[in-house]
Amino acid sequence: MQIALAGNPNTGKTSLFNILTGSYEYVGNWSGVTVEKKVGVLKKKDGTLTDLPGIYTLIPLTADEEVATHCLLHDDYSLILNIVDASQLERNLYLTLQLLEFGKPILMGLNMLDVAKSYGLAVNINKLSRLLNIPIIPIIARTGHGCADLTRQFKQVQSQEASPFHLDYGWVLEQTITKLSRRLPEQLTPPKRWLCLQFLEGNKLVGKLLEKYIPAKELQELLTETEEKIKQYEKAKSIAQHIRLKRMQYIDQLASTCLSKEKEVTITFSDRLDAVVTHKFWGIPIFLAFMFLMFKFTFDWFGTPLSDVLDAFFSGPLTDGLTFLFDRVGASDFIKAVILNGIVSGVGGVLVFVPQIFMLFFLISFIEDSGYMARVALVMDRIMEKMGLNGKTFIPMIIGFGCNVPGVMAARTIEQPKERLLTILLTPLMSCSARLSVYSLFVGTFFVKNQALIVLSLYVLGIVVAMILAKVFSSTLFKQEGDSIFVIELPPYRIPQWKTLSRSTWEKGKGFVRKAGTFIFGGSVAIWLLSYAGPTGINVDMDKSFLALIGGWIAPLFAPIGFGTWQASAALLTGFLAKEVVVSTMNIIYAAPDADSLKSLISGYFSPLAAYSFMVFILLYVPCLATVAVIYKETASRKWTWFSVIYALVIAYMISLIIYQGGRWLGF
Ligand code: GDP
Ligand code: MG
Repeated sequence: MQIALAGNPNTGKTSLFNILTGSYEYVGNWSGVTVEKKVGVLKKKDGTLTDLPGIYTLIPLTADEEVATHCLLHDDYSLILNIVDASQLERNLYLTLQLLEFGKPILMGLNMLDVAKSYGLAVNINKLSRLLNIPIIPIIARTGHGCADLTRQFKQVQSQEASPFHLDYGWVLEQTITKLSRRLPEQLTPPKRWLCLQFLEGNKLVGKLLEKYIPAKELQELLTETEEKIKQYEKAKSIAQHIRLKRMQYIDQLASTCLSKEKEVTITFSDRLDAVVTHKFWGIPIFLAFMFLMFKFTFDWFGTPLSDVLDAFFSGPLTDGLTFLFDRVGASDFIKAVILNGIVSGVGGVLVFVPQIFMLFFLISFIEDSGYMARVALVMDRIMEKMGLNGKTFIPMIIGFGCNVPGVMAARTIEQPKERLLTILLTPLMSCSARLSVYSLFVGTFFVKNQALIVLSLYVLGIVVAMILAKVFSSTLFKQEGDSIFVIELPPYRIPQWKTLSRSTWEKGKGFVRKAGTFIFGGSVAIWLLSYAGPTGINVDMDKSFLALIGGWIAPLFAPIGFGTWQASAALLTGFLAKEVVVSTMNIIYAAPDADSLKSLISGYFSPLAAYSFMVFILLYVPCLATVAVIYKETASRKWTWFSVIYALVIAYMISLIIYQGGRWLGF
């Protein structure tokens, strides 16, 4: 049993997928969360379920929509599970009609009935089911309500012979369809009628399929001829518009019989809140205030105190315990040093920031799931537009705050190829959680009183630099062809559920912990070895080690921006692996027994101004290895991948230079 999930964006497909397969895929209250196809095994192990990106029609405009259409067209599955948002029934049915014409067995899960009810909408499910001739199961994907009924239907529905749904599109189109069908072989899946309709509507994927049987030129002629007739007899602007109108008429009919409005809800709570948070002037200050609060929580109120507890554990009981153990088993000095000075310092130094990072992820998940994120994109759109981008771009960027890798991938939801490329290039400027560990260390050392404010300034700097570069790039490298329109839906606000929140916090944070066990672990051992050995042998003075040698070569380059020491250079070099490694490197190099002594050591090497300049450099210089890899994967271009690395280096240097020299000139 193979089931494909199809439906509009933000209708609860992934929520249902998680429940039915026991997975933990990313759920968020806006469209464009799922950009890849995900296959999961049903809990009873009797089949698979494929989660797809949301689509409005089967005609793909964006890369993620293409994933969905491609899967529906070419993959092997026995049943389509169509998830429909009951609170927006009419719009959702548009896709349903196309799926019905497609002729595969369909089961409809009618979701968000709780939302529909709060709008005063009631759906007559029996009637709708009879008219569409498919089973419809009411569900609430969020809580799992109705899911048992749904799974019970799977076997039954897929064994039934589906009779393709037939809608009359008027004589002109019907004539063309007949003409086309005659030229196609008898046995075809999907059904011939569906293929013809999709082709006429402009589906390029289907067009390619038909070219196997009918020469492209002939197809083109038929298209022009039909378009002429449609204009003449049906008074429509194009074939696509005519088809759309016919479908909408039918949906209106359905709605008038199956949908009833019990009470008139004119201004909802969402509307009232939106009037404030998306306000022309207040929108951005409110967003900034939110971010400030977020960092207050992360640094001052919850995160840091918890970090301190963890640090006390690492530097106290853990180190003591290990030392004791090594003495007991008589481990060599070398082994002791690798583990204590290399791994415990390097990995532990990063792990102490886990509480802050989880706190931040928790708050980001809250904002995402509540629906506020979509509003932020809308507010940012006004600025974005002036910079040659649209507000949709801001969503990959916000995702980039967690980790740049999924951020870069989320750029798939952007239609215009150039805008998408631009978004991919700029998303790495967003300050990810890995950088947060570096900030934590530095603000905790140099800016104890204003931690939240300083970190906020770095996040904002990342956004501002991205905006300015967007303007520069879009007016030089990427001259825009045609304007793109910004379509983001504002989903209703939802009170996030504890379960979803804790899951998505863990999903985001787990990557950080995993990195600590792999990259950072390996990096720490390598860095420690480099600091332990030198050209003159092993166990050398750190200043004569390979690490000092390599760092020393490039250190003069960084003198003008405030940190021309070999230590800082070595940390920057290793930071390319993953930005947390900067913290590991510093822990190893300065060989501090605990966080407090590390801080006092670091303050001997940096002035507060140099520390700020260093953080800015960390924020902007080259994306980390994983991000570079995903940029290459998504752009499939060596040129643009190199570009993303080099421009970032140049910009980072320039801005740090301005900050450091400017700051000195001002007397800081
Ligand atoms: P997808 O884009 O179709 O994959 O939708 P998601 O599964 O990501 O869900 C979108 C949003 O709708 C999330 O905020 C969910 O928590 C929420 N959601 C899903 N199902 C329901 C439901 O039945 N009722 C309500 N009120 N919210 C739901
Ligand atoms: Mg999804």
